[in-house]
Amino acid sequence: MERRKVTFKLYPNAAQAARLEAWTRLHCELYNAALYERIDAWHKAGKSISYYDQQNTLPEIKEARPEFVELGSHALQQTLRKLDLAFQAFFRRVKAGQAPGFPRFRSAKRFSGFAYPDPAGWKMYQQGHRGGTLRIGSGKDAMSIRMRGMHRFGEGARPNDMTITRKNGFWFASITLRVPEAACARERTDDQHRGVDFGVTDWATFDDGQAIANPRWLREELPRLAAMQRERARKRKGSLRCRRLGQRLAKMHERIANRRRDFVHKETTKMVQQCAVLATEQLATKNMSRSAKGTVEKPGRRVRQKAGLNREVLSASFGMAHQMLAYKAAEAGARLHLSDTRQLKPSQRCAACWEIVPKTLAQREHVCPHCGHTMQRDRNSALVVLIDAHMPGTGVAARPKPLARQRAKSKSLTRETPTTTAGAV
Ligand SMILES: [Zn+2]
Repeated sequence: MERRKVTFKLYPNAAQAARLEAWTRLHCELYNAALYERIDAWHKAGKSISYYDQQNTLPEIKEARPEFVELGSHALQQTLRKLDLAFQAFFRRVKAGQAPGFPRFRSAKRFSGFAYPDPAGWKMYQQGHRGGTLRIGSGKDAMSIRMRGMHRFGEGARPNDMTITRKNGFWFASITLRVPEAACARERTDDQHRGVDFGVTDWATFDDGQAIANPRWLREELPRLAAMQRERARKRKGSLRCRRLGQRLAKMHERIANRRRDFVHKETTKMVQQCAVLATEQLATKNMSRSAKGTVEKPGRRVRQKAGLNREVLSASFGMAHQMLAYKAAEAGARLHLSDTRQLKPSQRCAACWEIVPKTLAQREHVCPHCGHTMQRDRNSALVVLIDAHMPGTGVAARPKPLARQRAKSKSLTRETPTTTAGAV
């Protein structure tokens, strides 16, 4: 069984929306009360309260405040667990010497939602191709909320848990499904071997010179975004106009994120459908997006240029692409090869003679002084990783999970999946 997460947009009627709103407020109240209890016990008695202490007081709470009953005991426990996780993360950061960030009280407005950790207390019905119904609660008090969206995993998929969230005034249900492996399989239409280089000039360049242009919504929308941010800065904080602008800004950010996710989904699907072997370099976004500011003693160079680049790098969302490629390649029975960037240096290496040819980011053409090989920079990189994919003992495992044991022995292994599984649906 595999796990897959599917998100549905909910269309509650006015009464249902008010009820979801009220439930979220109650969950938020519980969260804040539990946080207060922990802080209070620590200040007054030096005592630390565990998740289980708090879980055991839930029956009392429900007796004193009957409105909590219809929220479901597992959902209430889940909210307490959410707080417990926040504390665990806090202590982990303290231990690691990072900026700790103590768990905060949340306002009901900023409380994102609540979750059901198991299939109890709700049920999902898929109707036809486009939508379905989500039933929450039991008996005559149950709510049947219309929802849009569908999953492709068929009858065999079993719901496991659900998170209800509110975002920019809309409600969503994120459902984790347990899916039989066969139902995850993707059709593959070709058995090509391709190398791909993700970049800022073009979003992706292949070893044969084909490229996918960078859509750059962020760059197009940036002037508008910046203008709105300036406008909001002129408004009195907390005023109606300031809040309205804030809502419009949030919507714009969401729209950009949606378009980007859609684009990356479509392109990665195409890639794994065509390829038996897909090679690319290991991801290093952390370094690429590191602030160029530097420190007081050692100020960075070209801070503004790097800031623009950061934005581009993040907006092009290679991280998202890598994640999608990993699971989609497995689903399509394709081999995803991730080259070890530091060892291989694909952007600096000559694909013809394998010598290192140093270049700056501005040099868009690879010209080899050793063998005379000339090629567009990104295409050369894509070719290098493709060659690397066919050399034994190179690359890092694309997904550590299935190869966990073997990885312990040798660190440089490629993920091997049968390369000729065609079209099992
Ligand atoms: Zn060369």
